[in-house]
Amino acid sequence: MRTPLVAANWKMNGSREFAEQFFTALDVKGAGCTVVICPPYPYLPLVAEKAGDDIAVGAQNLSQEASGAFTGEVSAAMLLDWKVDYAIVGHSERRSLYGEGSELVARKFVAAQAAGLIPILCVGETLQEREDGRALDVIAAQLQAVKDAAEGDIWDRAVIAYEPVWAIGTGKTATPEQAQEVHRFIRENLGESGAAVQILYGGSVKAANAEALFAQADIDGALVGGASLDAEEFARICRAA
Ligand code: 13P
Repeated sequence: MRTPLVAANWKMNGSREFAEQFFTALDVKGAGCTVVICPPYPYLPLVAEKAGDDIAVGAQNLSQEASGAFTGEVSAAMLLDWKVDYAIVGHSERRSLYGEGSELVARKFVAAQAAGLIPILCVGETLQEREDGRALDVIAAQLQAVKDAAEGDIWDRAVIAYEPVWAIGTGKTATPEQAQEVHRFIRENLGESGAAVQILYGGSVKAANAEALFAQADIDGALVGGASLDAEEFARICRAA
Protein backbone atom coordinates (compact mmCIF):
# COMPACT_ATOMS: atom_id res chain seq x y z
CA MET A 1 0.00 0.00 0.00
CA ARG A 2 1.52 3.32 -1.07
CA THR A 3 0.87 6.47 0.96
CA PRO A 4 -0.25 9.31 -1.31
CA LEU A 5 2.09 12.29 -1.47
CA VAL A 6 1.34 15.82 -2.63
CA ALA A 7 4.24 18.22 -3.05
CA ALA A 8 4.18 21.98 -3.66
CA ASN A 9 6.86 23.33 -5.97
CA TRP A 10 6.77 27.09 -5.47
CA LYS A 11 9.51 27.53 -8.10
CA MET A 12 10.98 31.08 -7.90
CA ASN A 13 7.89 32.60 -6.32
CA GLY A 14 6.96 33.96 -2.93
CA SER A 15 8.52 36.11 -0.24
CA ARG A 16 8.94 35.92 3.49
CA GLU A 17 5.52 37.48 3.93
CA PHE A 18 3.98 35.06 1.43
CA ALA A 19 5.44 32.06 3.27
CA GLU A 20 4.09 33.26 6.61
CA GLN A 21 0.62 33.90 5.20
CA PHE A 22 0.61 30.58 3.35
CA PHE A 23 0.95 28.61 6.57
CA THR A 24 -1.69 30.71 8.29
CA ALA A 25 -4.12 29.77 5.52
CA LEU A 26 -3.02 26.15 5.00
CA ASP A 27 -5.24 23.52 6.58
CA VAL A 28 -4.31 19.98 5.57
CA LYS A 29 -5.42 18.24 8.75
CA GLY A 30 -6.93 14.88 7.96
CA ALA A 31 -5.74 15.00 4.34
CA GLY A 32 -4.46 11.43 4.57
CA CYS A 33 -1.38 12.09 2.44
CA THR A 34 2.20 13.17 2.98
CA VAL A 35 2.44 16.91 2.28
CA VAL A 36 5.76 18.38 1.14
CA ILE A 37 6.46 22.09 0.58
CA CYS A 38 9.40 23.02 -1.68
CA PRO A 39 10.10 26.77 -1.37
CA PRO A 40 13.06 28.70 -2.79
CA TYR A 41 16.25 28.10 -0.75
CA PRO A 42 16.14 31.30 1.37
CA TYR A 43 12.75 30.36 2.80
CA LEU A 44 13.63 26.79 3.81
CA PRO A 45 14.34 27.66 7.47
CA LEU A 46 11.11 29.64 7.78
CA VAL A 47 9.07 26.94 6.05
CA ALA A 48 10.68 24.22 8.19
CA GLU A 49 9.70 26.16 11.31
CA LYS A 50 6.13 26.85 10.13
CA ALA A 51 5.59 23.35 8.73
CA GLY A 52 5.93 21.71 12.15
CA ASP A 53 5.88 17.94 12.41
CA ASP A 54 2.98 17.22 10.05
CA ILE A 55 4.35 18.75 6.87
CA ALA A 56 7.65 17.86 5.24
CA VAL A 57 10.03 20.27 3.54
CA GLY A 58 11.77 19.84 0.22
CA ALA A 59 14.37 21.72 -1.80
CA GLN A 60 13.89 22.40 -5.50
CA ASN A 61 17.45 21.46 -6.41
CA LEU A 62 20.78 20.56 -4.82
CA SER A 63 24.43 20.24 -5.77
CA GLN A 64 25.88 16.91 -6.83
CA GLU A 65 29.02 17.86 -4.88
CA ALA A 66 29.53 17.49 -1.13
CA SER A 67 31.44 20.74 -0.51
CA GLY A 68 34.11 22.98 -1.98
CA ALA A 69 34.60 25.77 -4.49
CA PHE A 70 31.20 25.66 -6.17
CA THR A 71 29.91 29.22 -5.94
CA GLY A 72 26.17 29.49 -5.66
CA GLU A 73 25.58 25.81 -4.98
CA VAL A 74 23.90 24.15 -1.98
CA SER A 75 24.83 20.67 -0.77
CA ALA A 76 22.61 17.88 0.51
CA ALA A 77 24.19 18.12 3.98
CA MET A 78 23.33 21.84 4.16
CA LEU A 79 19.72 21.02 3.37
CA LEU A 80 19.63 18.39 6.11
CA ASP A 81 20.81 21.08 8.53
CA TRP A 82 17.48 22.84 7.90
CA LYS A 83 15.23 19.83 8.46
CA VAL A 84 14.77 19.25 4.74
CA ASP A 85 13.64 15.71 3.88
CA TYR A 86 13.17 15.81 0.11
CA ALA A 87 14.94 17.33 -2.89
CA ILE A 88 13.55 17.68 -6.40
CA VAL A 89 16.08 16.59 -9.02
CA GLY A 90 15.82 16.81 -12.79
CA HIS A 91 12.89 19.20 -12.99
CA SER A 92 12.30 19.98 -16.67
CA GLU A 93 13.03 23.67 -16.06
CA ARG A 94 16.49 22.72 -14.76
CA ARG A 95 16.99 20.33 -17.66
CA SER A 96 15.92 22.84 -20.35
CA LEU A 97 16.91 26.25 -18.91
CA TYR A 98 20.11 25.26 -17.08
CA GLY A 99 21.34 22.48 -19.32
CA GLU A 100 21.11 19.71 -16.71
CA GLY A 101 21.45 16.44 -18.59
CA SER A 102 20.39 13.05 -17.30
CA GLU A 103 23.92 12.18 -16.09
CA LEU A 104 24.12 15.28 -13.92
CA VAL A 105 20.59 14.65 -12.66
CA ALA A 106 21.64 11.12 -11.73
CA ARG A 107 24.61 12.46 -9.75
CA LYS A 108 22.27 14.78 -7.87
CA PHE A 109 19.96 11.84 -7.17
CA VAL A 110 22.89 9.87 -5.74
CA ALA A 111 24.12 12.85 -3.68
CA ALA A 112 20.67 13.35 -2.19
CA GLN A 113 20.27 9.70 -1.22
CA ALA A 114 23.81 9.40 0.10
CA ALA A 115 23.11 12.23 2.56
CA GLY A 116 19.74 10.80 3.62
CA LEU A 117 17.43 13.01 1.56
CA ILE A 118 14.65 11.52 -0.54
CA PRO A 119 15.05 12.60 -4.15
CA ILE A 120 11.93 13.47 -6.14
CA LEU A 121 13.15 12.52 -9.61
CA CYS A 122 11.30 14.34 -12.39
CA VAL A 123 10.94 12.70 -15.78
CA GLY A 124 8.86 13.60 -18.78
CA GLU A 125 8.75 14.18 -22.50
CA THR A 126 8.36 17.34 -24.61
CA LEU A 127 5.43 17.82 -26.95
CA GLN A 128 7.65 17.04 -29.96
CA GLU A 129 8.85 13.82 -28.36
CA ARG A 130 5.24 12.78 -27.66
CA GLU A 131 4.12 13.61 -31.18
CA ASP A 132 7.04 11.61 -32.55
CA GLY A 133 5.90 8.60 -30.52
CA ARG A 134 9.07 8.70 -28.39
CA ALA A 135 7.61 9.64 -24.99
CA LEU A 136 8.20 6.26 -23.34
CA ASP A 137 11.71 5.92 -24.81
CA VAL A 138 12.67 9.34 -23.45
CA ILE A 139 11.38 8.46 -19.99
CA ALA A 140 13.10 5.07 -20.04
CA ALA A 141 16.41 6.80 -20.87
CA GLN A 142 15.92 9.32 -18.04
CA LEU A 143 15.36 6.43 -15.60
CA GLN A 144 18.27 4.43 -17.03
CA ALA A 145 20.72 7.26 -16.30
CA VAL A 146 19.83 7.02 -12.61
CA LYS A 147 20.03 3.20 -12.61
CA ASP A 148 23.51 3.45 -14.17
CA ALA A 149 24.76 5.92 -11.56
CA ALA A 150 23.27 4.47 -8.39
CA GLU A 151 23.79 1.17 -6.61
CA GLY A 152 21.61 -1.05 -4.48
CA ASP A 153 17.89 -0.78 -3.96
CA ILE A 154 17.63 2.89 -4.81
CA TRP A 155 13.88 3.07 -5.42
CA ASP A 156 12.86 2.35 -1.84
CA ARG A 157 14.10 5.82 -0.85
CA ALA A 158 12.95 7.80 -3.87
CA VAL A 159 9.86 9.42 -5.34
CA ILE A 160 9.29 9.80 -9.07
CA ALA A 161 7.32 12.62 -10.65
CA TYR A 162 6.03 12.25 -14.19
CA GLU A 163 5.81 15.76 -15.56
CA PRO A 164 5.07 15.97 -19.29
CA VAL A 165 6.85 19.16 -20.33
CA TRP A 166 3.91 20.20 -22.50
CA ALA A 167 1.59 20.19 -19.46
CA ILE A 168 3.75 22.35 -17.17
CA GLY A 169 2.35 25.83 -16.62
CA THR A 170 0.30 25.56 -19.81
CA GLY A 171 -3.11 24.73 -18.40
CA LYS A 172 -3.01 21.55 -20.54
CA THR A 173 -3.18 18.59 -18.20
CA ALA A 174 -2.49 15.11 -19.47
CA THR A 175 -5.77 13.22 -19.40
CA PRO A 176 -5.97 10.77 -16.49
CA GLU A 177 -5.66 7.95 -19.02
CA GLN A 178 -2.56 9.46 -20.69
CA ALA A 179 -0.92 9.94 -17.31
CA GLN A 180 -1.89 6.46 -16.10
CA GLU A 181 -0.32 4.87 -19.19
CA VAL A 182 3.03 6.51 -18.42
CA HIS A 183 2.82 5.84 -14.67
CA ARG A 184 2.19 2.15 -15.35
CA PHE A 185 5.13 2.13 -17.76
CA ILE A 186 7.43 3.71 -15.15
CA ARG A 187 6.34 1.23 -12.47
CA GLU A 188 6.98 -1.72 -14.77
CA ASN A 189 10.30 -0.24 -15.85
CA LEU A 190 11.50 -0.35 -12.23
CA GLY A 191 10.89 -4.09 -11.98
CA GLU A 192 10.25 -5.57 -8.55
CA SER A 193 10.99 -2.27 -6.77
CA GLY A 194 8.29 -0.52 -8.78
CA ALA A 195 5.32 -1.71 -6.73
CA ALA A 196 6.27 0.36 -3.66
CA VAL A 197 7.47 3.56 -5.36
CA GLN A 198 5.30 6.68 -5.10
CA ILE A 199 4.83 8.05 -8.61
CA LEU A 200 3.43 11.58 -8.73
CA TYR A 201 1.87 13.39 -11.65
CA GLY A 202 2.82 17.02 -12.35
CA GLY A 203 1.59 19.49 -14.94
CA SER A 204 -1.30 21.93 -14.45
CA VAL A 205 -2.75 20.01 -11.49
CA LYS A 206 -5.61 21.92 -9.84
CA ALA A 207 -8.32 21.04 -7.35
CA ALA A 208 -10.70 20.63 -10.30
CA ASN A 209 -8.70 17.86 -12.00
CA ALA A 210 -6.89 16.26 -9.06
CA GLU A 211 -9.56 13.75 -8.12
CA ALA A 212 -9.77 12.21 -11.60
CA LEU A 213 -5.96 11.92 -11.77
CA PHE A 214 -5.69 10.39 -8.28
CA ALA A 215 -8.39 7.84 -9.16
CA GLN A 216 -5.91 6.15 -11.53
CA ALA A 217 -4.32 2.98 -10.20
CA ASP A 218 -0.69 4.11 -10.58
CA ILE A 219 -0.99 7.82 -9.73
CA ASP A 220 0.05 8.25 -6.10
CA GLY A 221 -0.16 12.02 -5.78
CA ALA A 222 1.01 15.20 -7.44
CA LEU A 223 3.84 17.68 -7.81
CA VAL A 224 1.98 20.98 -8.00
CA GLY A 225 3.39 24.23 -9.40
CA GLY A 226 1.09 27.21 -9.94
CA ALA A 227 -1.82 25.90 -7.87
CA SER A 228 0.48 25.33 -4.88
CA LEU A 229 0.80 29.12 -4.42
CA ASP A 230 -2.79 29.27 -3.22
CA ALA A 231 -2.96 27.60 0.20
CA GLU A 232 -6.67 26.81 -0.04
CA GLU A 233 -6.46 25.38 -3.55
CA PHE A 234 -3.39 23.35 -2.56
CA ALA A 235 -5.18 21.99 0.52
CA ARG A 236 -8.09 20.88 -1.70
CA ILE A 237 -5.62 18.97 -3.88
CA CYS A 238 -4.13 17.34 -0.76
CA ARG A 239 -7.57 16.29 0.43
CA ALA A 240 -8.31 14.73 -2.98
CA ALA A 241 -5.24 12.46 -2.70
P1 13P B 1 2.29 23.67 -12.93
O1 13P B 1 1.46 22.97 -11.89
O2 13P B 1 2.33 25.16 -12.75
O3 13P B 1 1.91 23.26 -14.32
O4 13P B 1 3.80 23.20 -12.71
C1 13P B 1 4.07 21.83 -12.62
C2 13P B 1 5.46 21.66 -12.15
O5 13P B 1 6.39 21.93 -12.87
C3 13P B 1 5.68 21.18 -10.78
O6 13P B 1 7.01 20.84 -10.58
